[in-house]
Amino acid sequence: MSANAEQTESSVKSMDDIMSLCKRRGFIYPASEIYGGVNGFWDYGPLGAQLKKNLRDAWWTDVVMKGCDGKLGPNGKPVEIVPVDTSIIQNPKVWEASGHVGGFNDPMVDDKETKQRFRADHLFAVYLLEPVNEMKTDEHYFIGGAIERAIPDRTAVGNTPTEALKAICNESTLRKANGIKKLISGIFSGQDHRVGSFATAWVSTSNGERYIACVPLSDGILERRANEVPSPFTGKAGHLTPPRAFNLMFKTVLGATGNMEDNAAYLRPETAQGIFINFKNVVDTTRVAVPFGIAQTGKAFRNEVTPRNFTFRSREFEQMEIEFFCHPDEAAGWYAFWRDWRMEWWQSLGLEGDNLILREHDSDELAHYAKEGAGTSDIEYRFPFTAPGFGELEGIADRTNFDLKQHAEHAGAKLEYFDNTRGELAKNGQPKGERYLPHVIEPSAGLDRGVLALLCEAYTPDPERASGVYMKFHPRLAPIKAAVFPLVKKDGMPEVAAPLAAALRKRFGHLGTIEYDEKQSIGKRYARMDEAGCPFCFTIDGDTLTDNTVTVRHRDTLDQERIAIDSVPDYLAEKLGL
Ligand code: ATP
Repeated sequence: MSANAEQTESSVKSMDDIMSLCKRRGFIYPASEIYGGVNGFWDYGPLGAQLKKNLRDAWWTDVVMKGCDGKLGPNGKPVEIVPVDTSIIQNPKVWEASGHVGGFNDPMVDDKETKQRFRADHLFAVYLLEPVNEMKTDEHYFIGGAIERAIPDRTAVGNTPTEALKAICNESTLRKANGIKKLISGIFSGQDHRVGSFATAWVSTSNGERYIACVPLSDGILERRANEVPSPFTGKAGHLTPPRAFNLMFKTVLGATGNMEDNAAYLRPETAQGIFINFKNVVDTTRVAVPFGIAQTGKAFRNEVTPRNFTFRSREFEQMEIEFFCHPDEAAGWYAFWRDWRMEWWQSLGLEGDNLILREHDSDELAHYAKEGAGTSDIEYRFPFTAPGFGELEGIADRTNFDLKQHAEHAGAKLEYFDNTRGELAKNGQPKGERYLPHVIEPSAGLDRGVLALLCEAYTPDPERASGVYMKFHPRLAPIKAAVFPLVKKDGMPEVAAPLAAALRKRFGHLGTIEYDEKQSIGKRYARMDEAGCPFCFTIDGDTLTDNTVTVRHRDTLDQERIAIDSVPDYLAEKLGL
């Protein structure tokens, strides 16, 4: 049984509860809510906007300004990164060269009867396999072989086989519809050379104990056995079309009098290409030398077929991408460096322990630009909706020289780099230089998925508190850095508290909000701060007026201590690690 399967249902946080806190406290709202919303788009409220900015700033500071927080690269030298900020709309030829016009497709399946549409890789065939006593000694052998022979009983929807199976086993109506009485084992996810990735669990049914298994339909089942696969909408077999490609790019028209045929342009589906097409500009106009990286953050747009799971899969989202250019011989070393450092970085922000994993891709998962043998890995987080499985936060890929080569060919531009530190030695003992297209290591992170992971990780139910829950953000990321409260709105307390809040704002306002609040009982104000994830509250009470001390309340431990009012700014600076 895999480690993943050991996570019990009760330890998984409720996504509904997290989403309702996000709405209630102003982290995230559905976009266009007063008009009924618009599928795949979200708006960040005051706390969410600041949390998102804090994560973006942490990335910008640690990656770009501090060059991997001062860690030396595999060449023993500081890591050099420079920023750019490129346009969302570029010449459409950029997307032809990058492969997005021809290949940026998701396989789509339609139900011919209901006209509903789904991504084939999000549809899963569900099998109730033979009784367990027929199981061979090797579990994988049994499952792979059994699935190959069996006809799917149903089709389920989800992001991963585990998610689809989990929905079936956990929802009583789905469980009943599938003839399952109860789940006996945890959910196990595996790979089999015959059927690809799958998830399985041991269940009891009216016909005895059996294995239930989920396998993606995109792994060829629909092409091979279309007549046997039941529709997830009606349960009828033979009603699904084979998977068809659907381009994910948003198209628009340039110019007020333009038309879609002659003046079409695309909203960028990734920030990376804006970097590649400026590689030569950056080399020519700055003093960078390979190896070096170019970084950018910004919006990307994908017309996702099935946006779902809150902000995890949206149609408009923000990326934080680095394209790191190096000599081909050094690509493997830089790939390992970035993969490991990016994992450390996410851990440093509080995504620790079993919820964060680094997963090297199997060779059958390689993207169109990646070559066999070149590394690709994902940093994945165990979101409540993927548990016990994981969802991608960031991908680290060795893109070889694919993109520079494509742009050099399509644009007819010379994008080779002249490296005067390499090549044979000339008579004067100096290297003659070498001309080459650099290879690129790309750590590509999703800012919105990062925020979602931070929200899920921070969400901590605590029945002992008035709020019933608190958000345990790392102080560096917390949108509200501190709160200042007069115990009551009288007796001279606001007159002391308001100037303290103003002084803290002046010193820490560039990092986040300093809350000042004098309404409601102190218990209600603490409860609000717990839900907002504010790490420190400073309360001015009757004693402050006589001994110049204030109470500090710590969010995580609920400890209270008294410190001198004059020491509050330095105290907060130390706690924020400044
Ligand atoms: P997925 O397989 O989940 O669709 P991807 O592998 O296509 O993701 P990349 O093209 O590698 O994603 O994009 C880099 C990062 O951008 C991802 O790791 C993810 O954090 C983020 N991202 C991609 N698509 C979306 C989306 N629709 N909504 C939110 N974030 C996204």
